[in-house]
Amino acid sequence: MNQDALLNWFHQNQRSLPWRLNPSPWSILLSEILLQQTQMQRGIEYHKRLYERFPTPSSMAKSEVDEVLFLWQGAGYYSRARRLHALSQIVVTDFEGVLPSTYNELLALPGIGPYTAAAVASIAFSHPVACVDGNVRRVMARQTNNADPSVKDVQEYADGMIVREHPGDWNQAMMELGALVCRPRNPTCNECPVHESCRGTLRANELPRPKKQKKKEVELQCIIKVDAQGQPELIQRPDSGLFAGLWGPQMEEKLDSEGLEYLGCIKHILSHRTMNVHVWKDTCKQGIDPNTVALSTLDRRILTLAGVFLNVPTE
Ligand code: SF4
Repeated sequence: MNQDALLNWFHQNQRSLPWRLNPSPWSILLSEILLQQTQMQRGIEYHKRLYERFPTPSSMAKSEVDEVLFLWQGAGYYSRARRLHALSQIVVTDFEGVLPSTYNELLALPGIGPYTAAAVASIAFSHPVACVDGNVRRVMARQTNNADPSVKDVQEYADGMIVREHPGDWNQAMMELGALVCRPRNPTCNECPVHESCRGTLRANELPRPKKQKKKEVELQCIIKVDAQGQPELIQRPDSGLFAGLWGPQMEEKLDSEGLEYLGCIKHILSHRTMNVHVWKDTCKQGIDPNTVALSTLDRRILTLAGVFLNVPTE
């Protein structure tokens, strides 16, 4: 890869972000923690809000964690705010209020993983440690035409490529290339400063192959009780957890179904889990009209299996 070409491209095309205009280590750390799980535009807003109120680690350390949480409202993943507050207090007690500069010291702080430690050490302190994130993995997979690079492969590639004189710019250039040009879908290879060394252009959209997420499989027991008129007994589920606030029959990991009629197993697939629901039928004195309450698709499937009439059939 032509490293000079990529660095030149970065200097001409990098987005003007608040933490680039005013690159204090604390500002860079805030940005990296925010961008771990927040979109860029929202990250910029929250960075402004937090950095104005807490321009230094000491100013945050003196505040209550509730104030950090209050400013964090809407950014999600609130444990980040708690860890950041704890981090600021450690920086004050152990480092006299000055953010430590080495990868290992940063990695030991609350809320800092390998990526964030490498980003802050290189961008804020010019230490030659390579960052690996999804952008770098994608650029690497395409440059080397490797559909399935391991974590080790990507780290070795990034370590081998880093420009030791400008590690912060280099890491940002790789990530910026992935964000702006070598995008997940339809990369603009004709604008790419490193297209000459790229071996994956012909099948770039297929590189890298998405990681297979192993779905969790859970076994559940459900007892559906139906009255003489064919109406089921339904309970409203709690306000938190799966299907919060919706209505349905009793469903647990373990239920006493001895002597009951077994209706069958429903396989229900959600984004991160597969539910195998074993359904048993029982009777009850008086059920309710299931068409008057909110039901999940799974509960509709269970009711249909039990022969309960629904106005809106299950898809
Ligand atoms: Fe990505 Fe295309 Fe550049 Fe290769 S040439 S690194 S696929 S943008």
